[in-house]
Amino acid sequence: MQNQAICAGSFDPPTIGHLNIIGRGLKIFDKLIVAVAINTSKDPIFTPQERVEMLEEIFKDQENVEIDAFEGLLVNYAKKRGTNTILRGLRNLGDYEYESQMALVNKTLDSDIEILYMMTEGKYAHLSSSIIKEVITFGGSGCGMIHPMVAGRLKEKLLKESK
Ligand code: ADP
Repeated sequence: MQNQAICAGSFDPPTIGHLNIIGRGLKIFDKLIVAVAINTSKDPIFTPQERVEMLEEIFKDQENVEIDAFEGLLVNYAKKRGTNTILRGLRNLGDYEYESQMALVNKTLDSDIEILYMMTEGKYAHLSSSIIKEVITFGGSGCGMIHPMVAGRLKEKLLKESK
């Protein structure tokens, strides 16, 4: 069986911080399944399909990255995909508090699941999908924070919505 893990998240939109975790994860795993969460309580700006499309475009030349979307419990999705390893990124204490709760809940739901955390590189610690939406809304370029294609799609969405 392939040494693979699931990198799950909202990716609304994907940031350079997410891409860094995925890139570094590929040095450890043969394959990563990047799984877009559909039923997030975060009121997303992009549809799951749009988030999948952006990630597919970013990783189009990377055969060992599969983009997918999932609904419901992550542990059930992991079981369906035949993997028990989840890779997540950690930026700060806020992430730690949230992630430790989620890890314990997931472990309670399925004791086979293993969640690995990779510390962000310092230069990406300030990046989040929500801060990037603010930057673009107020006229910033997003350069160095998001892929240029994502910046274009975000501008289209946010600036069109505010007209
Ligand atoms: P979720 O809604 O599941 O938290 P996100 O898309 O916000 O989804 O984040 C997915 C994962 O990526 C989480 O583990 C999050 O901590 C991590 N992450 C987000 N931004 C960064 C970043 N700048 N550096 C490292 N990890 C990050």
